[in-house]
Amino acid sequence: MTASPRLRIGISQCLLGDHVRYDGGHKRDALLADTLSRHVEWVPVCPEVEAGLGVPREPMRLEGTAVSPRIVTITTSVDHTAAMQQFSARRLRELERLDLSGYVFKARSPSCGIGKVPLVNAQGVETLEGVGLFARALMDHFLLIPVEDEDRLHDPQILKDFLKRASDYRRSRNHV
Ligand code: SF4
Repeated sequence: MTASPRLRIGISQCLLGDHVRYDGGHKRDALLADTLSRHVEWVPVCPEVEAGLGVPREPMRLEGTAVSPRIVTITTSVDHTAAMQQFSARRLRELERLDLSGYVFKARSPSCGIGKVPLVNAQGVETLEGVGLFARALMDHFLLIPVEDEDRLHDPQILKDFLKRASDYRRSRNHV
């Protein structure tokens, strides 16, 4: 009997220990990079590096409104929104061909966060109403795909539910 193929799941690349963060660092998460790697085939993506922003790079934040945020460098106010949108459209077409069953995002990132990302509004007030630009684009593109962030997956019940949802999602797409 052939074993089920591992779930293929997208992931913010820094969570696997790759040095792609703005400061040349990473955010390796042992639960994901070690434990879950036995059950999951990761598809790593770093939107900021793949959009051409380089390492190291100036850190960015979300500005504007929750409906239409911009991603802007914090010190020099360079707006990278258009570059991120163009990158996202291209990368999502590539990811379509990989039949992902889920996605794990880095929490609080202006590119990857799936919710409660700091966003500075027109009054200069920081709220937690933001969603990272790439995460937003991916969730809009793959409407039903299960997504979580690494913080939440450290709850064993949320992890179990996520893997079940990912497995069900794959089955629903007849890719088993
Ligand atoms: S949070 Fe996203 S954009 Fe930032 S380093 Fe990690 S993968 Fe790259």
